[in-house]
Amino acid sequence: MRKKIVAGNWKMNKSFQEAEELIEDLLDLMEDNALENPEMVICTPFPYLELATDMTDESLISVGAQNVSEHESGAYTGEVSASMLNSIGLNYCIVGHSERRKYFNESSQLLKEKVDVLLNHNIQPIFCCGELIEEREKEIHFDIVKTQITESLFHLNKEAFENVVIAYEPVWAIGTGVTATAGQAQEMHAFIRNLIKEQYGEETANNISILYGGSCNAKNARELFANPDVDGGLIGGASLKADDFYHIYKSF
Ligand code: PEP
Repeated sequence: MRKKIVAGNWKMNKSFQEAEELIEDLLDLMEDNALENPEMVICTPFPYLELATDMTDESLISVGAQNVSEHESGAYTGEVSASMLNSIGLNYCIVGHSERRKYFNESSQLLKEKVDVLLNHNIQPIFCCGELIEEREKEIHFDIVKTQITESLFHLNKEAFENVVIAYEPVWAIGTGVTATAGQAQEMHAFIRNLIKEQYGEETANNISILYGGSCNAKNARELFANPDVDGGLIGGASLKADDFYHIYKSF
């Protein structure tokens, strides 16, 4: 069954104490109102992951990382492996966020390796894709997203692919306050689902969660999530405030 997911990408924000407070506030809000569908996920910075997994242990909140090394283990100073993430009980990891593609030059080939290493350690990749504003203006946004997905995901067999979550995040909407319209989001999500159908068949296409990301907030979430192919959101700025994030989680 296709899962609805609202995932928060905290990026490089919050002190340890602030992280603890935010998780506490979310747990309070969730106390009597937690649902299995949608699933709430928080993707915290690395130093707070264990705190987050401990604090949310008995709740319906899942925890994810924002990055992973493509290597299994060894002399890679500063890196964090998928087996380490698995050993603290993580369920998800964001891969291919546009900030990592841009500032850390992450290529489709590298992202493919990161997807593989995560799946090998039973962590679901939240794979981000999306076009730049110039690419939309040139009307090549469908080609861009198709290439990103094909190059980093379509080597997977059907069983492995079914563990991937896709997040469509038009780069021009991330952190800008400019959201894709509900129509633009639905159009791209339906396109992505159709790509999956061509590659893996209708059943797999219907089972994959495709999230929208890019200035999604407490005001516009309901309209975006009402689209038949939008299965939730990857939320940046608005995930840093418990009330806003909880409101988005309740917007189905
Ligand atoms: C993101 O960084 O994944 C994101 C969607 O950010 P924001 O919600 O702040 O646009």
